[in-house]
Amino acid sequence: GAVIGIMGGGQLGRMSAVAAAKLGFKVHVFTQNVTDPAVEVAHAVTLAPYDSPEALESFARAVDVVTFEFENITADALDLLARHCPVRPSGRVLRTSQDRLEEKTFLASIGIPLAPWHPVTARADLQTAMDTLGLPLILKTAQEGYDGKGQRRVHHPDDLNTAFDELAPHPLVAEGMVDFACELSVMVIRGVDGTIRCFDTVQNRHWHGILDMTLAPAPVMEETARKAQELACRVAEAFDLVGIMGVEMFLDHTGALLVNEVAPRPHNSGHWTMNACPQDQFDMHIRAVAGLPLPQATRHADAVMKNLVGPEDMALWPEILKTPGHIPHLYGKADARPGRKMGHVNVLFPFGALPGEFGVQDALGALATKTAAPADMEAID
Ligand code: ATP
Ligand code: MG
Ligand code: MG
Repeated sequence: GAVIGIMGGGQLGRMSAVAAAKLGFKVHVFTQNVTDPAVEVAHAVTLAPYDSPEALESFARAVDVVTFEFENITADALDLLARHCPVRPSGRVLRTSQDRLEEKTFLASIGIPLAPWHPVTARADLQTAMDTLGLPLILKTAQEGYDGKGQRRVHHPDDLNTAFDELAPHPLVAEGMVDFACELSVMVIRGVDGTIRCFDTVQNRHWHGILDMTLAPAPVMEETARKAQELACRVAEAFDLVGIMGVEMFLDHTGALLVNEVAPRPHNSGHWTMNACPQDQFDMHIRAVAGLPLPQATRHADAVMKNLVGPEDMALWPEILKTPGHIPHLYGKADARPGRKMGHVNVLFPFGALPGEFGVQDALGALATKTAAPADMEAID
């Protein structure tokens, strides 16, 4: 059978590899760490630095198509791979989405509404950023942030320089703090032939900068949910995406949607699809990458996805195993360090039953340990 190459060995690669196996593919993983979650489910593994030209070349020759589950590989590495086999999504998509400044510039150029932002590439930009955005604002490194890392919230003018010093010398972006009603995301999938699909709009709840829960569908007006899907589709088309992409948005109190960031790979906020959909996000991603037909991204149940982060969530494990209807997914990581994503639990509800009949609290019982974060909560680094 054909071989799908995956750059990166994390849980997204692991779950993609399992989906690929179900569709009859073999998976070859390229990673730097032998203990990575995807290694134990791969049929072949290349253990090498992500920027080794020799390793990349022999990897590309050994597979039929390459995708990635990890955004901190270089787009140059993808370009090198692309000389030997198709790379989906393309290096161009990765290059744009892995830099917040390029991403925002691109999204703004195609008319996507964004939170107010200002580039900060030198200390002198701080004053203009504060003048245009006001306070509070968030300073983010343009590259390499995830789970709220590489961010500082600035409430007072005095703190601006400190935040800058902590994040510099990397290029930064300042964003106005959005007083959002909730956070939403949409997983959009686009095929080689341009077929576009998206899963239902979901709500995401974070805890200390890390996704804690996803509610599917999002408890928002139908029109809002549909507009979020339309935005995601517009973004995917403009990128000429082949594969899957998560589009994160804020819903503000006026009902407006603002795109926060995009991720051209399977996404934590799509994990609920593993039990609530006939084809989950990983199936859809592999189908898109492999050029297979893309069925509608339908859902046969409502769902709550609860992330298992660090030792405190893993302490719930015995309880999860005992609870009927709690569907656990572990990533095979040995040690539960604080802030580390160890797995997740999906809980299904009858189609259309969330959230009216069940609150999140009722839905998760003992699993609902983290309540909505206070508005001024600091992202942890
Ligand atoms: P991810 O793990 O999703 O990749 P990340 O480190 O790339 O996270 P963001 O998604 O930009 O960071 O921000 C993390 C969280 O911080 C957001 O989900 C949101 O809760 C909050 N946040 C980020 N930017 C803003 C903003 N401009 N206004 C209000 N809240 C924000
Ligand atoms: Mg991000
Ligand atoms: Mg994010």
